[in-house]
This record gives sequence, C-alpha cells and structure tokens, in this order.
Amino acid sequence: QVIFKGYVERAPRETDMEVRIGTVEVKTPKGSGAFLVKNLYLSCDPYMRGRMRDYHGSYIPPFVPGQPIQGFGVSKVVASDNPDFKPGDLVSGITGWEEYSLIQKPEQLRRVQQDDIPLSFNLGLLGMPGLTAYAGFYEVCSPKKGDYVFVSAASGAVGQLVGQLAKLHGCYVVGSAGTSQKVDLLKNKLGFHEAFNYKEEPNLDATLKRYFPEGIDIYFDNVGGDMLDAALLNMRISGRIAVCGMVSLHSLSDPQGIGNLFNLLTKRIRMQGFLQSDYLHLYPKFLEHVINNYRQGKLVYIEDMNEGLESAPAALAGLFSGKNVGKQVIRVAYE
Ligand code: NDP
Repeated sequence: QVIFKGYVERAPRETDMEVRIGTVEVKTPKGSGAFLVKNLYLSCDPYMRGRMRDYHGSYIPPFVPGQPIQGFGVSKVVASDNPDFKPGDLVSGITGWEEYSLIQKPEQLRRVQQDDIPLSFNLGLLGMPGLTAYAGFYEVCSPKKGDYVFVSAASGAVGQLVGQLAKLHGCYVVGSAGTSQKVDLLKNKLGFHEAFNYKEEPNLDATLKRYFPEGIDIYFDNVGGDMLDAALLNMRISGRIAVCGMVSLHSLSDPQGIGNLFNLLTKRIRMQGFLQSDYLHLYPKFLEHVINNYRQGKLVYIEDMNEGLESAPAALAGLFSGKNVGKQVIRVAYE
C-alpha cells in the first residue's frame, strides 16, 4: 500500500507518502454490495495535491492520514457480492493505491472493455483528463475554425488532447511546456503548429507576441500564475479563456492578486472556470469522438508509465516539478 502520511501546505513530496509492504487481511465481501479488485493501473493527477491539504471546503474531501491514497485506477474484479460486477470484469474509477482494494462505493466505478485501445487509457485519453480536454475545449472555449489557440502544460494528460482537438477543428495551435523534450513531442508527435519551453523565456509577454503576432483567440489555461498574466495581455477582442487549472500555484499558500485580470474587462474576454464533472452527460459523445479519431490515427496519446506500486509516491510528486512526460500512470500489475 501507499499510505498518506499527513497534511502539507506545499507541493507534494515523495516523503509525504510511505510504501508499506506486508499483508492486509481483506474480508470477503458478503451482503454489502461490495467487491474486491486487483488494481492494474493507477493515475497521478494534479487535483490530488488539494486532497493532501487539511481543507474541507473543496468539492472533494481531503485524504485520511494513515490510509492508502485514493485515486482513479483500472482494476480487475476478483470477488464480488454485487450482481453488477462479476469476477473477471474490468472496471475503472476510484480505487486505492494498493495491490487489492475492497470497493464499497460501486457507483464510483464503471465497467470497461479490453479492446484495441490500451486499458490504461481509461485514466487519460478516455478518462477524466480526456473529458476535461473535450468539454473544456468544445463547451467552454466555443472554438471556431481559424482561431489562434494557446495551451499551457501542453504535453500533459489534458493539454496534449486539447491541442490535437483544436488542430482537428482547424485552429492554429501553440503549446508551452517545461523541457526541450516536451517541446519536441508537441511539435513532432502531437502535431502542434509551434511550441516553446517557458522556462527558457525570460519575458512571457514578448514570447507570446512572437508566437501570436495577431493575438490569441483561445487560451486553455492549465497553469495560472505568470503565464495567465502574460496570456491576458495578448488576448484578442472577444477571446475566451478556459480556466482549467492552476498547477503553477499549487505550491503557494498565498496565490497572486488580480494583476492583468483587468484585461478581461477591456477586451470583453469570456474566462470561465469549469469542472469536468459538470459535463458527464457528454461522456458517450466524447468517447465516440476520441475513439474514432484514435482508431483513424488522427489522435495520439502519450503516457508516462512507471512500474510498480512503490514508484507511485515519486510519480505523484513529479507532476509538480514536470517530471512526467504525458499522462502519468502507475502499472501495479500486468493485465
Ligand atoms: P499534467 O499531465 O499536465 O501534469 C502536470 C504538469 O504541469 C507537469 O508535467 C508540468 O509540465 C506542469 N507544471 C508543474 N508545475 C508547474 C509550474 N509551476 N508552472 C507551469 N507548469 C507546471 O497534468 P494534467 O494534464 O492532468 O492537468 C493539467 C491541469 O488541468 C492541472 O492544472 C489540473 O489541475 C487541471 N485539471 C482540471 C480539471 C477540471 O475539471 N477543471 C480536471 C483535470 C485536470 P511542464 O514540464 O510543462 O511544466
């Protein structure tokens, strides 16, 4: 098991979690509707940082110190007291960072199939990050063909799909990322028109002016902070900003003030925060769209696969220093 040690007010570190090796007795689920799963893949997601803080006012409660980390996973049912989930079924949803989990909230998982698409993609392209990209781009950004689109944290779980959907839609797309390897992926594998390493750019306003001499129509914001500030200065009239996440502020206890937010007013920009969970009704449409495009080779999806449950703490902490290249997943066991 990977145990959550205690609350922190900064970006997570590997040492905030403890890998506990031993045997835990799990009672056979009987008369409860519960079922036991063997976990195959676990997901590392930035929102998990919020659950490591002792704050109860959020849309999701904090982790319980001393208990295994909870998160999205893909698992196989091994014993069941629930007529809807039989041994051998593959499921995806909320599970524990452990080899086996007793699932007591079956409504938090759905059955998935093993087909030509990798099973672990249920944590990325076909899962919560995928829906975030799809709903954020089509519903929040109101894209039009020919729009100039900028995506930050562009090689990550959400960003890599936003950029590709924008390009399929006929937009001009530029992405930012934190290493030259990621920039190379954006330009040569994910098909972004342009990409840059924001860590090598001393003046982000000048950088955005260089890539968008005519301004930005859509900014899909995954990072907040200085990049949002610079993007606001470069928005066109009637631009749209999807406020998807602010991963650059996750380490700070005192997020910055409004700064360039005043541009929202002068340029009549629509900037909208959103949660992918507001768009669950789009799930079937979203799956059809990405699966069709993936099968036709029009979409690719990059995963960063760590091997073994014991690699999970470093992988989660790595999200906040940009160690992951693509969607961070842990392989706990082979299918
Ligand atoms: P990623 O796979 O993109 O991993 C996080 C990435 O963030 C890192 O690889 C790193 O990339 C970048 N990063 C880390 N620290 C900083 C920093 N200080 N400044 C700039 N970039 C940084 O994560 P996801 O794709 O899963 O999530 C992307 C964003 O979307 C997050 O903000 C997340 O909270 C949000 N989100 C929102 C949802 C919603 O419903 N609104 C649902 C899911 C995700 P790099 O090397 O490029 O810096």
